[in-house]
Amino acid sequence: MARAYTYITKYTSPNQNARNRKIAGITAHWWGTPSGQSPEGVVSWLCDKRAGTSAHYVVSEDTVWCIVDPDRRAWHAGNSRANHTQIGIELDPNASRRASTERTAAALIADLRGTYGNLPLSPHKRWTSTQCPGNWDLGRLDKLARGKQPVAVKPSKPAGSGKLVEDGRLGTATSKALQKILGVKRDGRLGPDTYKALQKHLGGNVIDGLIENQSYKPTELGNGVGPHGWQFTGRGSKGSATVRRLQRHVGVKADGVLYEGTTKALQKALNAGTFRAVSRPSGGASAPAKPAVQNGKLTEDGRLGTATIKVLQKRLGVTQDGRAGEDTWKALQKLLGTVVDGAVSHQSYRATELGNGVVPRAWRFTGRGSKGSKMVVALQKKVGVKADGVWFEGTTKALQKALNNGKL
Ligand SMILES: [Zn+2]
Repeated sequence: MARAYTYITKYTSPNQNARNRKIAGITAHWWGTPSGQSPEGVVSWLCDKRAGTSAHYVVSEDTVWCIVDPDRRAWHAGNSRANHTQIGIELDPNASRRASTERTAAALIADLRGTYGNLPLSPHKRWTSTQCPGNWDLGRLDKLARGKQPVAVKPSKPAGSGKLVEDGRLGTATSKALQKILGVKRDGRLGPDTYKALQKHLGGNVIDGLIENQSYKPTELGNGVGPHGWQFTGRGSKGSATVRRLQRHVGVKADGVLYEGTTKALQKALNAGTFRAVSRPSGGASAPAKPAVQNGKLTEDGRLGTATIKVLQKRLGVTQDGRAGEDTWKALQKLLGTVVDGAVSHQSYRATELGNGVVPRAWRFTGRGSKGSKMVVALQKKVGVKADGVWFEGTTKALQKALNNGKL
């Protein structure tokens, strides 16, 4: 089921941070009185750090640019609290493009309501002294949005027969049906616990509760996927081993990237009752997950889990709680001779993407392509990997090897 508009996600604004409140509404903007400014020019400016401002979406004619994940806080309202609660949409002011822009904006608003509930639509001027959104008629836009079926984010509903609608949307109904078979809590939102159970069910070697290297965001798959345990790495990502197993199991192309085709096949398998029978490798039982520590040695799997951190903490002489935070980083910084501030700065991967051994508070995620940290450069040199300052699996693997061999 396709969206009613062209959806572009390849530009990301740095002018964003985490929300500390639940999404409660949608705020409409326009980019000033009609002028020569192209939507591409607006997207490019809002994605520039110097702008110091952003929005979640820019809409013009039949195109939507998503430049900030709606689950994060974009800087658009000129009001801190409103930024925490609102999804900001920047609308093309040009009258000659009004009809098509309005249709697209209405479809986007319907899709957002499909995911986040019945959000009210407000003008920017509700939050601060401004003329924005100028001559946009929000009453009309709201009405138009309410007349549209959310297509891209249509939740999967069980049909009257108790069967899932095989619509390719990973909504709460599909998630619940999957959770029921896996024997985990049926909250209708996939997360680390469900992924772990799925990894076990499919006979994976790694049970880490993480779906890695995905090309689509949870919000693009449906409202049955939570933000935790899901690693979005941009379009064209290499995919995850767990998803490849799932795809083989439900009989679709095993590219490791979960999207509508895989969901549809999963829904079909759940409806047909064929999901339960997992094909085992010859010999009977499925391959057990490798423990994080075997015969006193860390498994060199590139996951920065609690076992690896405990061994590191032991080496550093700090409390072995298996969670690296300020104290562990300070001790590591002392050992490596870099600035001792207890934080790992400029990282391209989130703490949760590395493993469950990292405390997010002392970990500074600044987006993909970040410049890296001096402490990590020093660590990478020490363990013999490329010193780019960005910590990910290769660095963890080399660290595990060094810890196993007493080389740190
Ligand atoms: Zn505005």
